[in-house]
Amino acid sequence: MNNEVLNAGADPMGAAIYDYHFNGDADTLIVHSSMFEDDEIPVPDLFRSFEDMPDLEQIALEEARGRILDVGAGSGCHSIALSEMGKEAVAVDISPLSVEVMCDRGVDARQINLYDESFTEKFDTVLMLMNGTGIIGTLENMPAFFRRIRELLAPDGCVLIDSSDLRYLFEEEDGSLMIDLADDYYGLLDYQMEYKGVKGEPFDWLYVDFDTLAFYAEENGFCAELVAEGEHYDYLARLKDVSCVDRD
Ligand code: SAH
Repeated sequence: MNNEVLNAGADPMGAAIYDYHFNGDADTLIVHSSMFEDDEIPVPDLFRSFEDMPDLEQIALEEARGRILDVGAGSGCHSIALSEMGKEAVAVDISPLSVEVMCDRGVDARQINLYDESFTEKFDTVLMLMNGTGIIGTLENMPAFFRRIRELLAPDGCVLIDSSDLRYLFEEEDGSLMIDLADDYYGLLDYQMEYKGVKGEPFDWLYVDFDTLAFYAEENGFCAELVAEGEHYDYLARLKDVSCVDRD
């Protein structure tokens, strides 16, 4: 598993977040993928307040308790909402420019990769939002992800993570699915960000349906609970180490 951080010169999303925060405006943040047409991430959305967040994110913030780790925190929107709720969060992100913005916004933010084992603190809640399963990258990385999460969780801790089932992209009008079983899992995307002509490194970004996530959780000694479902194949899940669940 890659456990590196980004350089400021190749940090397109961070550069967009930086411009929006420090200069009051940002250019277009483009997402390239070999599977889709180019798409755009509206930069103001990365600065959403609690009221502007989708229901699933609001539920996750309400459910979060104890010492909270906000993984891939971006502009820090969730950490800030948590602190307004009187909760204590630490934010980590591989993006140096995002971390600079979060620190300026008063967030306890560190430039750390989730998979960097030298980060040894423990948390009661690990929060992974805005397709949090993206950071797992591929299905092959599931064991490494669960191993890492086990290291980060305090006894009785849990992960709150959201994702979407991308099956709707392959659904025919009659409801049948146009998925080639010989292909890679249909939620596995490759992304590359671009901002102001600077492209970041391409990376794997996993969308995973709840049943598949629950299958891998069980394989790796965790259990997955469906906390809530959104309006469009999206959901929020809670992951807990089975040895903690047994003690409940
Ligand atoms: N959670 C934020 C941002 C989501 S975008 C929000 O909801 O608005 C995903 C973020 O994850 C980016 O800021 C990216 O830099 C960060 N990221 C990607 N891989 C990571 C990793 N392995 N460890 C920590 N952060 C990571």
